[in-house]
Amino acid sequence: MRADGVVLTRFGGPEVLDVTSIDIPEPGPGEVLVRVTAVSLNHLDLEIRAGVSRLPIDLPHVLGREVVGEVVAAADADSPWSAGDRVLVLPHVVCGRCRNCLTGAANICLRGWMPGIHGWGGNAELMIAPSRGIVAAPDLDPVITAALPISFGTAWRALHGTAHVSTGEWVVVAGAGGALGHACLQVAALAGARPIALVRDPARADFVRRCGAEEVVVTSEADWPERVRTITGSRGADVIVDHVGGANFEGSIRALADRGRLVVAGGHGGEFPQLDVVDVFRRELRILGVRSQRPDDIEAVLGLAVEGRLTPHIAETMALKDVRAAHDLVASRSTTGKVVLQP
Ligand SMILES: [Zn+2]
Repeated sequence: MRADGVVLTRFGGPEVLDVTSIDIPEPGPGEVLVRVTAVSLNHLDLEIRAGVSRLPIDLPHVLGREVVGEVVAAADADSPWSAGDRVLVLPHVVCGRCRNCLTGAANICLRGWMPGIHGWGGNAELMIAPSRGIVAAPDLDPVITAALPISFGTAWRALHGTAHVSTGEWVVVAGAGGALGHACLQVAALAGARPIALVRDPARADFVRRCGAEEVVVTSEADWPERVRTITGSRGADVIVDHVGGANFEGSIRALADRGRLVVAGGHGGEFPQLDVVDVFRRELRILGVRSQRPDDIEAVLGLAVEGRLTPHIAETMALKDVRAAHDLVASRSTTGKVVLQP
């Protein structure tokens, strides 16, 4: 059947994005057809579009990893889903059977399927989703729901599943005004930790304080690792969530307390920072990677969002036809929170 959608037929700048009429196949066994009501943008969408994601993307491709919608039809007669069900398509559908899934690391499932990466995503009016990869949408605005899984689910995995953050610990959050950053501040504050927000732009200070930051360090104005040492009584941070990489990663090493945990969640600011391994072993620093989310992380953040204890900030909602402007907005890194498209 035909639907409006944005199909990538080549990699490049925002000019490769156009809304056209696309052919969506009938759902096959184990699949459902979903009418998309909201889909949020991630930096990864921009990297995939530009062809620099280091992921195997087959063209033509449809982006869109965080999708909320309504079931149109399920292929299987005994499907738990039926027309009209409001659903969230999980951004990471895990197999449940591989060695990582069986050892508590489903977030790095060896056979995981991600909409918008391994198959067509939600930058279209309709998408096909695996029946076992959708969950009932919570009782929230679809735009809010679409803003939760990746930022808040990853923040939950980083701080609880990876760093095991405790009450009273100093938690530094890099890029604190962005989508993942503002989620980490809220998750850290909810855990009773003491969040320190790193922002480049002082205009974001009020926003990050509203997200739970106890202290704000403007990285463009200060030797930020030194500021963190001052704030923490010269000890350094117990936990740092750094998805920036590059020079920020080097600063994170300096800002960590002895035996501190550095959670690496990305590296868009530089994938090959300098690392002094002597500093790592003499001070027993822990460098921990985190990727993606487990289904129970998403369940946890959806529940807390319904209770009003976690609140994604929506930078902008835009129509699908404005997809180029939406990519420009995310690329500008000037937004606070998430950009969401409504096909
Ligand atoms: Zn698995």
